Amino acid sequence: MTNENIAEPTGFAALGISGQLLKATHAAGFIEPKPIQEQAIPAQLEGRDILGIAQTGSGKTAAFALPILSKIIALGTKRRPRTARALILAPTRELAVQIEETVKVLAKGAHISTALVLGGVSRHSQVKRIAPGVDFLIATPGRLTDLVREKDLILSDTTWLVLDEADRMLDMGFINDVRRIAKATHPARQTALFSATMPNEIAELAKGLLHDPVRVEVAPQGTTASEIRQGVIFARTKQKRQVLSTILADDAMRSVIIFARTKHGADRVTRDLERDGFEAAVIHGNKSQNARQKALNGFRDGSVRILVATDIAARGIDVPGISHVVNFDLPDEAESYVHRIGRTGRNGQDGVAITMVDPSENAKLRQVERIIRMQLPVLADHLDQPDPQPKSREHNADRRPEAANDRELRRDGKRATGGERASKPAGKARSGGNASNSNRHWPEKTGAPRPAGERTPDGAKPRKFRRRTRKPAARAA
Ligand code: AMP
Repeated sequence: MTNENIAEPTGFAALGISGQLLKATHAAGFIEPKPIQEQAIPAQLEGRDILGIAQTGSGKTAAFALPILSKIIALGTKRRPRTARALILAPTRELAVQIEETVKVLAKGAHISTALVLGGVSRHSQVKRIAPGVDFLIATPGRLTDLVREKDLILSDTTWLVLDEADRMLDMGFINDVRRIAKATHPARQTALFSATMPNEIAELAKGLLHDPVRVEVAPQGTTASEIRQGVIFARTKQKRQVLSTILADDAMRSVIIFARTKHGADRVTRDLERDGFEAAVIHGNKSQNARQKALNGFRDGSVRILVATDIAARGIDVPGISHVVNFDLPDEAESYVHRIGRTGRNGQDGVAITMVDPSENAKLRQVERIIRMQLPVLADHLDQPDPQPKSREHNADRRPEAANDRELRRDGKRATGGERASKPAGKARSGGNASNSNRHWPEKTGAPRPAGERTPDGAKPRKFRRRTRKPAARAA
């Protein structure tokens, strides 16, 4: 036999994944490992802890799930009642659901049990599910803490711990819960911590929880995927509704996620869109888990073109093919901007991120630009135009950011506010006005320039994705 006949393992096999797990991985369409998987899988199979600096979309779920699955399958031992062999902590319910889906796909045919422990849904069924013991438990920290406190779950057998989106768990006030949970797990556990950013508190947490970790980083901190074209539109708050309706009438906006800073803001944007003839789904922490999942499913299967979301609800959502992210307003924390726009431009696809900026948000814009290390080009500037008349409404009624606390989300989740709507077919603008011509606002996907001097339908001078020349008056906060 010549050397040529000895097939060198490639892809996931070369990383140490084998047997049924390899088959299921291939069946899931994962043939070539992503960079984070190349770095993290062999290290974890060797028993190393991982400090991963990566966003959702990087492939981190398989990066931590495959080695754990591989080890659990190899051990094959029985689970004890009310225990979990691997525990994955995630900040939001949506992300937890997504992780479980991925784990199930990867573990297909391998007799691995999974369970979800989340706020906002029946606790009884969760307790029942973990009663015989599970291999993979995916949980948000709030509900998990409750179950551990009430001894419905014992963590002392948990030898794999993964903290996903650790920075967001910090933002949501979960850090002490996370510490307590980690402390209750097996002392000789293997731990992986993933975070898109590395604020001091997370670095400290990692220091306390990880033992001599391998650091894997797939994109430098705070950078944004290069496939995403970004730009700003200067518009006063009173103008934003009309500007949004205008840009949404563009057919190129196939699948759009609109971010609002507050829950009420998200509801208001959704209401205004509907008044303007669009159909949109909304997710935020006041929506029941079912309503959130329904909205997300409609968006994912393409029956709803527009999803309005708050930062917390949308966190970590992985919906392929989102063509545009629109920031109706800027987030309170500049780093959330990176997470928001990371919903588009996935897996090498093109993506566009448009941010509407009221003069009062200029300081936030500067912070964002500092973090992404670039000045965002100006697509349009409406500041020298009058506010639109009657249909526009004040957007200052409630400016509280969404409650950063899963317990509150869980409490409120039970009493979904009115206005929850079923997912409907993709909406188009019915209204006339600027909408029909609105695609003239935007460069083609190819970035083809608009003829020089052509004006947008509402008279604003088009500015495209070129570098902006700063207008001191317009930038003054
Ligand atoms: P994640 O960051 O884990 O949410 O993954 C982002 C997306 O990439 C998900 O839609 C995964 O299904 C997909 N994905 C992860 N790893 C691979 C791979 N090796 N090949 C193709 N797709 C992948």
